[in-house]
Amino acid sequence: MKEYEERKIPKKVAISITCNKCGNTKKLSDIWDEYEFQSFSITFGYGSLFDDQKWEFDICDTCLADFVKTFKHSPDINGV
Ligand SMILES: [Zn+2]
Repeated sequence: MKEYEERKIPKKVAISITCNKCGNTKKLSDIWDEYEFQSFSITFGYGSLFDDQKWEFDICDTCLADFVKTFKHSPDINGV
């Protein structure tokens, strides 16, 4: 038989988010604030141009839209 007790586990919580491209920062006071930014985590494979590197960055929706406009072919867009 096991006896349990409640413990609070330390947890990192984001308090602000900054666009890596333009530097726009937003304080995160509720969950909806983060939705104006997109987080990217890219792991490059061995033999790629960035051999085994991992990149993580956040981009605001405005910068993401500007970036996508530079594409020769538009991305597939689904949803409402
Ligand atoms: Zn931005």
